[in-house]
Amino acid sequence: MTPAPSPRLTVALTFDHDAISSEVRRGDGPMTISRGEFGPRVGARRVLELLDREGIPSTWFVPGHTIETFPESVAAVVAAGHELACHGWLHEDLSTLTPDGERAVLARSVEALIGITGEQPRGFRAPYWALSPRTLGLVQELGFSYDSSLMDDDVRLHRVRFGDEHDAAAGTSRLGAPGRLVEVPISWALDDWPHFEPGTGGVGPMSAPSKVLEIWLEELRWAHEREPGGVLTITMHPEAIGRGSRMRLLERFVAEAKGLGGVIFDRLDAVVERWSARHP
Ligand SMILES: [Zn+2]
Repeated sequence: MTPAPSPRLTVALTFDHDAISSEVRRGDGPMTISRGEFGPRVGARRVLELLDREGIPSTWFVPGHTIETFPESVAAVVAAGHELACHGWLHEDLSTLTPDGERAVLARSVEALIGITGEQPRGFRAPYWALSPRTLGLVQELGFSYDSSLMDDDVRLHRVRFGDEHDAAAGTSRLGAPGRLVEVPISWALDDWPHFEPGTGGVGPMSAPSKVLEIWLEELRWAHEREPGGVLTITMHPEAIGRGSRMRLLERFVAEAKGLGGVIFDRLDAVVERWSARHP
C-alpha cells in the first residue's frame, strides 16, 4: 500500500487549558480567578462544540491543577478524542525554579495526565513559554516526543538543539547540536492571549477579532502558498477564545482553511509521529 500523499499544509489548533492555575499560584482575588474559570465553565464547551461540528482533532496542554480541579471539563476533552499534553502543575514559570523544583513539577504533571488518559503524554509546552536552560533537556530525558515552546521557526518542525554556550562578556555564542526532542514552533502573533487579554484591572490592549483574523489568515495563506508541507500551529486559551466575538473569528479561520486545497487539521502527537518517521 502506498502511503497517503503529504498534505499541502497541516493546521494544528492547540488549546492551553490553564483555567485558574496561574491565578491560584499568584494568590489572586476572586474576580481574577473568575476570569480563568470562564475557560472550563464556558469557553472549553464552546470550543469542543466547534471542533466536533467541524470534525477537527486538536491538542490540549493542561496543567495538573486543571485536571484535579475541573475533572469534568478535562474528561470532555479526552472523550471527544483530543490529545492531552503537559503544561506544568500550577502554570509555573519554570525559569524561576530550582533543578529539583522543575523535575518535581513535571513528574507530578505527567502522573496526573497518565491518571486520566492511561498513557505517557507525548507533548510538552512550557507555561508562559518560559524555559530555564535545563528545561528542554529534562523534557527529553523524561521521554517526551516533542516540545512546543520555541520561536526559531514558524511552520517547520525540527529537532531541539542542545549545548548552546553564550558568553555575553566576550560577545560570542557557540551553537550546540540537535537532540532527539522534536520542536513544534510557536509565536506570540499566533497566540490569542496577548491580542485579547488585558492585564490587571482590565488595563492594556484588547484587539478587535478582525485584526487577529487578518494576522492568522495571512500566516495561513502564506504557509499554504510558500511553505508546502508545513505545519501552522495556533495557540488558544478557552477563557480567551471562548468569548462570542472570538469564537466567530475561530469559525472564520477554520472555514478559510478548509476552503484552501490540501489542508488538514490534526493533533500534534500525530503530526510529530509522521514527521519523525520521515526524519529518523
Ligand atoms: Zn498556559
